[in-house]
Amino acid sequence: QEDLFKNVVSHAKEYGYIFPSSEIYDGLSAVYDYAQNGVELKKNIREYWWKAMVQMHENIVGIDAAIFMHPTTWKASGHVDAFSDPLIDNKDSKKRYRADVLIEDYAEKINIKAQKEIEKAKARFGDAFNEEEFVTANERVKGYLEQKNTILQRLARSLENDNLADVKALIEELGIACPDSGSKNWTEVRQFNLMFATKIGASADTAMDLYLRPETAQGIFVNFLNVQKTGRMKIPFGIAQTGKAFRNEIVARQFIFRMREFEQMEMQFFVKPGEEMQYYDYWKETRLKWHLSLGLGKENYRFHDHEKLAHYANAAADIEFNFPFGFKELEGIHSRTDFDLKAHEEHSGKKLQFFDNDTNSSYVPYVVETSVGLDRMFLAVFSKALQEETLEDGSTRTVLRLPSVLAPTKAAVLPLVKKDGLPEIAKEIIEDLKWDFNVAYDEKDAVGRRYRRQDALGTPFCITVDHQTIEDKTVTIRHRDTMKQERVTISDLRKIISDEVSM
Ligand code: ATP
Repeated sequence: QEDLFKNVVSHAKEYGYIFPSSEIYDGLSAVYDYAQNGVELKKNIREYWWKAMVQMHENIVGIDAAIFMHPTTWKASGHVDAFSDPLIDNKDSKKRYRADVLIEDYAEKINIKAQKEIEKAKARFGDAFNEEEFVTANERVKGYLEQKNTILQRLARSLENDNLADVKALIEELGIACPDSGSKNWTEVRQFNLMFATKIGASADTAMDLYLRPETAQGIFVNFLNVQKTGRMKIPFGIAQTGKAFRNEIVARQFIFRMREFEQMEMQFFVKPGEEMQYYDYWKETRLKWHLSLGLGKENYRFHDHEKLAHYANAAADIEFNFPFGFKELEGIHSRTDFDLKAHEEHSGKKLQFFDNDTNSSYVPYVVETSVGLDRMFLAVFSKALQEETLEDGSTRTVLRLPSVLAPTKAAVLPLVKKDGLPEIAKEIIEDLKWDFNVAYDEKDAVGRRYRRQDALGTPFCITVDHQTIEDKTVTIRHRDTMKQERVTISDLRKIISDEVSM
């Protein structure tokens, strides 16, 4: 798995998907640049989301709010006081950790031990195996799972009560985590606010402290009434937005999984109080379906229902994805009650209410939100798509099986040789197709090597122009996944490609 992850990172760089930020200065931690192909894949994921959320829902509209917001926004939302993570340093190794993540990782290791025991039993008993019976029968597995649960419960309790001393005690008791395993030399655990602060305005006395937004949601809440009135929206309705968010993450690792500058795709759905649970269930199901529609494999997704809820929520679940480093949060679905709108009413002194014509009364709506990280989506898609295959002749090929609708380039047009007028025909085909799709031209190297290069780039189709093309206006079209080739007429190309790549 570690190797797979390394491959993902190096493939992303080698094939122009993702570069470390300011690499000539040795990069900037947890900040990345999207390269020529990465920007296309990212744009396509964003559009795929936007189409499903905005275009396909009559009662959802989009906005694009500014990154800078009035500083009171973050007081009202609770971010100034509570948007922090517990931090701990190891004095020997001089390494800094997020205390809760350290403990959760440890619990996950215990979980993996339990899973391995179960796998072993499965291998022994075959199909007759019944997991539940085994778990109750087998003390070892039971022991592991209990240990894991106890640790997580104690962590949750300590964080809820703001008992940071107990978080530290838990870390020490567990003797946690390489490379500091067994080390006792920890600092106290303290809360660290994740917002980046800056200033607006030049003169010293008028300058105002600002934050870079740590989530896009607040731009939607403060615009709730503007959109509702100008769009004549009736509850229930949603506002969607994609855009950058910034968090000074304590430990940034795992490539684009946890970045300091990242992009979110969020939708806040405003509902009548009391009806939130039915929409919460609807959006959980609808969002999972959206993920499954990409065809990356049902087994790679699971729900994680939160027992411990944030101060603003009355229900919350994550859609977790099987990343190269295990199942982790990809998207959150939260029932946020009227916490945000009420808080903004209080801090701004302005009403943020919906007037219900049927009952002739006003109320503050409840909110159900869906929030997915665009970069995490990118990593999910890219890491599952990257595959090494052994072919019938024993050779191997690297193929990036991106869902065709998301692929940066839909087709590469290749003249078999660089003469006899074949390049000219290839360019004519490109001139025609480029109105509808991103298409590439490649004439360098033998055609077999060009196919492999397009496979590694994730291009779903290769179109090859050969001498027969001059005679009868046909070309071969090769499919990335099956490597099958068929002979088709040039005038059919548009339809063949569009049937497979349209959103
Ligand atoms: P985590 O527990 O992983 O820190 P979170 O629960 O803080 O995430 P939310 O605040 O619910 O995340 O944000 C919604 C989504 O935004 C997440 O599901 C994730 O996809 C994305 N996201 C959050 N933080 C980051 C980050 N630092 N880098 C990339 N994506 C992120």
